[in-house]
Amino acid sequence: MSEAEARAVRILLVDDDEDDYVVTRDFLADSKRTIFSLDWIPTFDEALEAICRREHDLYLIDYRLGRRDGLELLKLAREAGCSAPLVLLTGQTDGEIDLEAMRAGAADYLVKGQIDAPLLERSIRYALEQSRTLQALRESEERYALSARGANDGLWVWNLRTNEVFYSPRWKSMFGYDEGAIGNSPDEWLARVHPDDAPILRSALEAHLQGRTPHFENEHRIRTRHGEERWMLSRGLAVRDADGIATRIAGSSTDITERKRAEERLTHDAFHDALTDLPNRALFMDRLQRAIENQSRHAASCYAVLFLDLDRFKVVNDSLGHVIGDELLVAVAGRLRNTLRTVDTVARLGGDEFAILVEGIDDITAAVRTACRIQNDLLLPFVIGEHEIFTSVSIGIAFSASGYARPQDVLRDADIAMYRAKANGKARHEVFDAAMHERALNLLQFETDLRRAIERQELRVYYQPIVSMASGKTVGVEALIRWQRGDQLISADKIISVAEETGLIVPIGDWVLREALQQLVAWDRAGVCQGYDMHVNLSPRQLLQPHLVARVSDALMLSGLPAKRLHLEVTESVLIESAEAAASLLRELRTLGVGLSLDDFGTGWSSLSSLRLFPFDVLKIDRSFLLDQDERRGDDIVRTISMLARLLGMQVTVEGLETAEQVERMRGLDIDFAQGFFFAAPMPPENLC
Ligand code: C2E
Ligand code: MG
Ligand code: MG
Repeated sequence: MSEAEARAVRILLVDDDEDDYVVTRDFLADSKRTIFSLDWIPTFDEALEAICRREHDLYLIDYRLGRRDGLELLKLAREAGCSAPLVLLTGQTDGEIDLEAMRAGAADYLVKGQIDAPLLERSIRYALEQSRTLQALRESEERYALSARGANDGLWVWNLRTNEVFYSPRWKSMFGYDEGAIGNSPDEWLARVHPDDAPILRSALEAHLQGRTPHFENEHRIRTRHGEERWMLSRGLAVRDADGIATRIAGSSTDITERKRAEERLTHDAFHDALTDLPNRALFMDRLQRAIENQSRHAASCYAVLFLDLDRFKVVNDSLGHVIGDELLVAVAGRLRNTLRTVDTVARLGGDEFAILVEGIDDITAAVRTACRIQNDLLLPFVIGEHEIFTSVSIGIAFSASGYARPQDVLRDADIAMYRAKANGKARHEVFDAAMHERALNLLQFETDLRRAIERQELRVYYQPIVSMASGKTVGVEALIRWQRGDQLISADKIISVAEETGLIVPIGDWVLREALQQLVAWDRAGVCQGYDMHVNLSPRQLLQPHLVARVSDALMLSGLPAKRLHLEVTESVLIESAEAAASLLRELRTLGVGLSLDDFGTGWSSLSSLRLFPFDVLKIDRSFLLDQDERRGDDIVRTISMLARLLGMQVTVEGLETAEQVERMRGLDIDFAQGFFFAAPMPPENLC
């Protein structure tokens, strides 16, 4: 039991009849719920003094007090500032003084002779309760008045008996109404509340009026006279009668529109991508989760996830800049939004990746149709600033039939399918299937094994001769990596692409460089393959590694070979992706004295004129030109390239010569070196010399 409950309720009885005092004392002693302490004063004057001392929680005042009456005492006590509850005791013959008593501020009145212990106790308890409520209301009204002045709140007082509401002028003006324009019906307020908010507002009111909540508080939207929608915070407190029935509720309404809008903005931002304003990954995963749950309840309602990745977005970004890149993403987002049904969720997952959740479909064909529609809609170029940009997407589709339990699994499979679409030539879509999962697992295993391949000494370097067109003699070799994985010999392309993705390219590249230089030393020592140069490939990832120049010069020092015996080959993509960094790095490498070749020329995007910026001494023309349907045209291109290369002070190598006829064709085209199966395929070092 708390201290307050343990404390006795102090009551003063003002009555000139001692018998009544005894009866009252006995009644109160009967109470099992509350402990009462009763004092007794028989005279009017003494009573007024005692009341002014405010030592009691409640006063029981007899109506008949000699010459004067209890009503007068009551009024004087109130005037003297007594706020404790006063209960008037009347005789059966005192007639209709009840109303007067209430007006004078009595909490209750009881008719002597009809009083019994429970009635007395109940009356005292309610009088105390009501007094506490009134006190709280007074305090809160003070607070409201304060905050009303400060925050320009509107005030309202609702008389529940008459069902009339007093609205303060400020309340009316908050909604654009003049003083006289609003009556005193509750509907002046409630009917203006947004239909979505009204039921909750009403039930919050109801709950408080029924005494289920300590106060009323509700946020709701309201329509102003000018049709604008504003957010209100309304608070109120009920005043109750002796039976605990609410008779009145008074409160305030505060305009919280700004705060609400800020909150809404924050929630929006948390779930949307800032650039395109599409839902972000978090929101997408949430919707996907719901789609999964929905499907587990209604098996017939299928869904699919489309994972989209723009093809060659990096090229746009790197060549035209991030600003244009961003604008392209926004434009793509807009087109996706237009293509899709409103029920579909299109989200930006990050970078140039988008995801679409298609719901309520019967089978996979609906998802495939959506993918086709998207690809079709992206066929038209985007006009951004002065640029006309063509873009396409690769799409991976995962379908709910696989019985997914977690959103991340659906997205993962759609992602795997998307990679498949890229690998199969981009600008297409693939539907995820179990075999794909298998392949993805294999790829993972491949990566893990590749990590161990170096220490297990499973990597090999093969060498392919480079032949002088003039003399027909081998002048150097190109080092090409292979992986002896069990009885499988894995080709360079596969190793390099995985190594680049995982970052393994750096240690692997270092290893190839050292291995190739050591091989050259070994041949020199053995007196075979005399004077060959060594050509080593560098991937873009390697080129942009810090300390690359130091690594190369260390490797050279370790071998003791002169720098000019080493040629590094880089592909065009480096020049596009980070032209300036690449140019300065290449110049540094040049100062070491190593040769530099531009590999696979003609497959990328660089123009001949941009080559001036880079210090290459050899241009390797890609074999694709040899394969041109129109031989004459292929040859013309090779001739033109070699002429320009010469103007820029470079020598020319042609790659991939397979037949005597091709070699013959090249003869007239002013080529310095050739490489290809016609001369020799890449081979292990022991086969070469
Ligand atoms: P690349 O530097 O252009 O090397 C030439 C590729 O063409 C080699 O493929 C070679 O086997 C192949 N080739 C040579 N002659 C012919 C021919 O007459 N016909 C045909 N069809 N192909 C021919 P490989 O060894 O599979 O290497 C592929 C690519 O992988 C290389 O292209 C190079 O870019 C990269 N690579 C190889 N080894 C390394 C390495 O150690 N480091 C790095 N970063 N890249 C490497
Ligand atoms: Mg090469
Ligand atoms: Mg090449």
